[in-house]
Amino acid sequence: MRLVVDLNRCQGYAQCAFLAPDVFTMHGDEGLLYNPQADAAQKEHVARAVAACPVQAILVEGLDEPAAHAPREEASHGR
Ligand code: SF4
Repeated sequence: MRLVVDLNRCQGYAQCAFLAPDVFTMHGDEGLLYNPQADAAQKEHVARAVAACPVQAILVEGLDEPAAHAPREEASHGR
């Protein structure tokens, strides 16, 4: 999953760092640091961060795609 934060928009509210701390971190004077190649396992956290950002500064590619390297159990095994 690829993500980009529009740092011109970002106001440093740190909602993202609170909701997805493995992907976004606040770094004192430098402001927001983030992992642009977040693991698919972080998808839910990232989705929450995207929704919570007050200025919609977080753009994500592939958020709707099934997690590529996080194998998921099928919910039902009907025939
Ligand atoms: S929630 Fe949005 S405005 Fe706040 S630090 Fe994250 S990207 Fe920036």
